[in-house]
Amino acid sequence: MKKVLFLFFISATMASAQQMDRNKRQVVSFIEDNQKELIAISDEIWSLAETAFNEQGSSKILADYAEKNGFKVERGLAGMPTAFTATFGSGKPVIGILGEFDALPGISQKAQPTKEALVEGAAGHGCGHNLFGTASLAAAIAVKNLMEEGKLNGTVRFYGTPAEEKFFGKIWMVRDGLWDDVDVNLSWHPGANTEADVQSTLALVDFKVEFFGQAAHASHDPWNGRSASDALELYTTGINYYREHIKPTVRVHYHIQDGGQVVNVVPDYAKLWVRVRDSKRSGVMPVYKRIKEMAEGAAIMANVDYKISLISGIYEVLVNRKGGEVMQNNLELLGEISYTEEEEAFGKKIQLATEKPQVGMDSKVLPLRETKENPGGGSTDVGDVSWNVANINLRVTTAPIDTPWHSWAVVACGGMSIGHKGMLYAAKALGMTAVDLFQSESLVAAIKQEFIERKGEEVYTPNIPDGPPPIESNK
Ligand SMILES: [Zn+2]
Repeated sequence: MKKVLFLFFISATMASAQQMDRNKRQVVSFIEDNQKELIAISDEIWSLAETAFNEQGSSKILADYAEKNGFKVERGLAGMPTAFTATFGSGKPVIGILGEFDALPGISQKAQPTKEALVEGAAGHGCGHNLFGTASLAAAIAVKNLMEEGKLNGTVRFYGTPAEEKFFGKIWMVRDGLWDDVDVNLSWHPGANTEADVQSTLALVDFKVEFFGQAAHASHDPWNGRSASDALELYTTGINYYREHIKPTVRVHYHIQDGGQVVNVVPDYAKLWVRVRDSKRSGVMPVYKRIKEMAEGAAIMANVDYKISLISGIYEVLVNRKGGEVMQNNLELLGEISYTEEEEAFGKKIQLATEKPQVGMDSKVLPLRETKENPGGGSTDVGDVSWNVANINLRVTTAPIDTPWHSWAVVACGGMSIGHKGMLYAAKALGMTAVDLFQSESLVAAIKQEFIERKGEEVYTPNIPDGPPPIESNK
């Protein structure tokens, strides 16, 4: 009798484990069975290489594919023609999956390990967003299939988010409340290693400073001139002196966009784009205030007028470790990505060309790391989403170890099998993690509880000017 009961217990637990595994296995098979089509979509977006707010073709490819797969697609959201959502199912939980698709200007590159533009002077996918958008949508479709077959209940929503590389499109989507009904959000990013990403990013603010003077002949009557570029130089000198007195976590960048046109005219106009970063938004704001005040000092010295305009600002990513553990478990189930000899050789050639040690690809799945207090590195508008909904993040290898990011080398890998493998892997991991969320109410509750605790008293305020996003400024 005891033995029979014991056997019954074993088979019952195995059945429930198998049930869970079956759904995840179906996600994996769906991605593998459709890899040709997914790679074609990713490659098409890679070839288009459209920059921030100009992603009409890329956005349409993904939105059309979602529609073809039975999703309800809403286009042109939050004042951005290329922003869209694709929703399937109804009721709780609502699980979001983020996708990006914009490229970077001036880094066009062929899918080869030596530097050569595909189209001279054109943009390139130097951050792998062709892979990002495609993998995330593939995961959403895999989940939708399970819903259609009655194996999962709830709502899955893919977010087509424009202009991550410039302007940060997600902020306007957040401001319009597009994540308000979402329980947990999933995101990933291409990288040089594979891990459940539990590190934050840097908060930042972008603003434009303009100086207005009086033009005059630079030699005939310079006393009649008031130089906007003098103000610009005095301003950047002030910023550079200030660097000694800012905290080590702060970064200040500026890009001179207009410093006058010709040498024999006292310039009456000058413009620069300034960016302040810190590990937290609360650290960014006082530095932003101080650097804005310096513009007045520079304007007084050069006897010109000035104007400051906020472009946009993003939050640091709010980490969710509980969600990271779920993702980690799925990465361990998937195991590491395996590379062919040709792919390892391609990786080493990239490393040779970028003067890095020729060590090839990082295939292993990293263990879940401690969350650092000061993460350093880059910034992302996923930060703003993560202050509005619990967010789980993933990083997957799509380029060799130490590849210079935002460079031709990343573009090269994103258009060939190294990038494709990372994309398919990410799609599986995101889909499997979504399966876990749909299958466990208590897991979703625990992830949401951690989000509430980490957010604390902070009241999220989107750091953008009133009105529509600056679509026209990047045409
Ligand atoms: Zn990116």
